[in-house]
Amino acid sequence: MLRYNYRNAARGSVKPKDEWVIIEHNHPALIDEKQWDATQEMLKKRKRGGVGHSAMRYIHVFSDIMYCLCGYREYSKRDKIRVQSGYAPSYYECSNHRTRAGTEDVCDNNASISDMEVGTFVLTYMRNMIEIQQHIQSYLNRADMEHRLLHGSPFSDVEGIAAENMESIYANFLREAHIDYQPQVKTEDGFSVEEREQLERERSKHKRALERLHRAYLYDDAGILDDIFQKELKEIQKALSAVEAKLKKLDEKNLPATGDTAFLKQASDYLIRKTLLSDEPIDWVDLAMHVDDDALRQFFLTVLRRIVTYKGKIVSIEFQNGIQHRFLYKE
Ligand SMILES: [Zn+2]
Repeated sequence: MLRYNYRNAARGSVKPKDEWVIIEHNHPALIDEKQWDATQEMLKKRKRGGVGHSAMRYIHVFSDIMYCLCGYREYSKRDKIRVQSGYAPSYYECSNHRTRAGTEDVCDNNASISDMEVGTFVLTYMRNMIEIQQHIQSYLNRADMEHRLLHGSPFSDVEGIAAENMESIYANFLREAHIDYQPQVKTEDGFSVEEREQLERERSKHKRALERLHRAYLYDDAGILDDIFQKELKEIQKALSAVEAKLKKLDEKNLPATGDTAFLKQASDYLIRKTLLSDEPIDWVDLAMHVDDDALRQFFLTVLRRIVTYKGKIVSIEFQNGIQHRFLYKE
């Protein structure tokens, strides 16, 4: 089914329903490509003519959250309308590469990425996350969970998820499902459960030493000299805070920031929800053509903090709960 005259421009506001032209079987074509092009050109001109800022009205769905690996925001631009779908993709490219070309420290990320690629990747990933949330008992093994997160063609060249991220992602899914989380025996920091126990034993030892020292200073008949007391106190405190720092670091690794990956409830738009719950491959163009650009943009802004790309690949996604998902690519 084709719907012509659905929007005022290819991705402009939706027209009143009675102005739509719905063609159920588009064979033979009622408009040929030339006519279609001419119509789109006319619409474009009409949209851009006259009012100076009208071109600014164009919404790039991901523009506020796209970053290059170099840390610069990505610049958004609009491509020409695709004849078949009537859809005009947005492209994102490193603003450092774009503006500092020719200078010595210019970023070498010379590739742009389209919202079709970004949208398909991100939505497929979110859908995999929803599948895990809904069937958490099937993904209690870290490897199974990682495998499921990377299910689907957008991840064909992704080898895995960075191990330090995977541990937080795993812990977060379990915490959301109120399942007890057991830290991995060997974490990325090189800490193991045994090391943790060792650190806790050391901490108790230092605390006991501190108590003994204080007791000796205050109550021992033989007494203890002030400067010796101060020196020992300093040493024990130093050792104690070193142990506590290590334990804190270990806890931070294993207990992720509180948050909520249950972003499905953020998808107030029926079509976004439907897409996230469907088993069909994500059809970004279809979604973008049927959902208001601003609704799509708002959904991603609510759920995501940042998408980092480099040379046409998505390097990482950061959700609003602060949990990062960094992708490792095959060589
Ligand atoms: Zn860059």
